[in-house]
Amino acid sequence: MNIHEYQGKELLAKYGVGVPAGFAALSVEEAIEGAKKLPGPLYVVKAQIHAGGRGKGKFKELGQDAKGGVRLSKSIEEVEANAKEMLGNTLVTIQTGDAGKQVNRLYVTDGVDIEQEYYLSMLVDRKTGRVAMIVSTEGGMDIEEVAHSTPEKIHTITIDPAEGFQPHHGRAVAFGLNLTGELNKQAQTLAKQLYTAFIDLDCDMVEINPLVETKDGNLLVLDTKMSFDSNALYRHPDVLALRDETEEDPAELEASKYDLAYIKLDGDIGCMVNGAGLAMATMDIIKLNGSFPANFLDVGGGASKEKVTAAFKIILSDPNVKGILVNIFGGIMKCDIIADGIVAAAKDVNLSVPLVVRLEGTNVEQGKEILANSGLAIVPANDLGDAARKIVAEVKAVA
Ligand code: GDP
Ligand code: MG
Repeated sequence: MNIHEYQGKELLAKYGVGVPAGFAALSVEEAIEGAKKLPGPLYVVKAQIHAGGRGKGKFKELGQDAKGGVRLSKSIEEVEANAKEMLGNTLVTIQTGDAGKQVNRLYVTDGVDIEQEYYLSMLVDRKTGRVAMIVSTEGGMDIEEVAHSTPEKIHTITIDPAEGFQPHHGRAVAFGLNLTGELNKQAQTLAKQLYTAFIDLDCDMVEINPLVETKDGNLLVLDTKMSFDSNALYRHPDVLALRDETEEDPAELEASKYDLAYIKLDGDIGCMVNGAGLAMATMDIIKLNGSFPANFLDVGGGASKEKVTAAFKIILSDPNVKGILVNIFGGIMKCDIIADGIVAAAKDVNLSVPLVVRLEGTNVEQGKEILANSGLAIVPANDLGDAARKIVAEVKAVA
């Protein structure tokens, strides 16, 4: 789960991390009120969307010359003008995709006099199974480019969970940022605070870009992106309360209510599969046959009729879907029960696109019989290869 920048900063501030003062605003009036409480004379008006690259982003409604989603403002009047231009409009950044994201919240912060911008992030490194801190002196807006062309400027410090955060980790972070004197000490303290927050809150990613050195010699977190391990959210009702469902894909949100693992993709063949591995294999074999999956969907182990119906509805809510491939292995769940679910769900949603079903496992013969006698135009398939060929052919025939 992701949260907004202002929420992330509020969380980190509780761990002692230095952030510029600021206020979230849902309207132009609130933005003005927020700005009035800040010292000035420089303010920053920032679009709050769950995507980075806002500074270099473009508003769909405003044309190429308009400023992006992070705007320095030199007076309350400028704050007002910027808030008016941003709220309600659609910001397109390298991370939003072409559709962009509507800006419904702003963050008005105290403008900082920047001496230098640094990069610092933390994530769970799958290779080592440890939390890694990644730092670079090349902070700002193009860290992907730095990683690509000058990887030697990026330093990784991994922390053994049994050992916990030690002073040497802090020194390595400060060294990686090439800091000396007072700033070096501040970086060591910051690294420890961030690690504590990361572990306490069950984060899976925290990215600070930029971390800045101010003209008056302090380290401040100027931008942050935080995401949390969804499986640990039950331990953090306060974090869960920060969820902004308007930022999430509506179909993925609906799927999560039925405990379905659904991710929308760009192709035209909807997939309903049980088990993540089988779902991946199904997507691969659709591609192998020359088409593209419209989604990843794992209905999980206990696929009830309600779940299968919800899954059909979610798949069909995507206008790109031209056909559906159901690929289910009946293990604990029996194939006849799954077939009953498929037939009932297909009738319930008035299925209008070709449907290919491959069942395998316990009671497979009874399952196939139920599908054959259903009166529905379900195309049966014998194995995974057969199923993929059939659905690709069906969809191409329709197109
Ligand atoms: P992002 O584009 O979504 O990553 O948004 P950021 O919050 O990182 O802002 C983008 C850039 O705007 C930063 O890298 C800074 O260069 C600049 N910026 C943001 N806040 C301030 C500020 O308070 N003062 C100054 N001078 N620049 C800022
Ligand atoms: Mg940034």
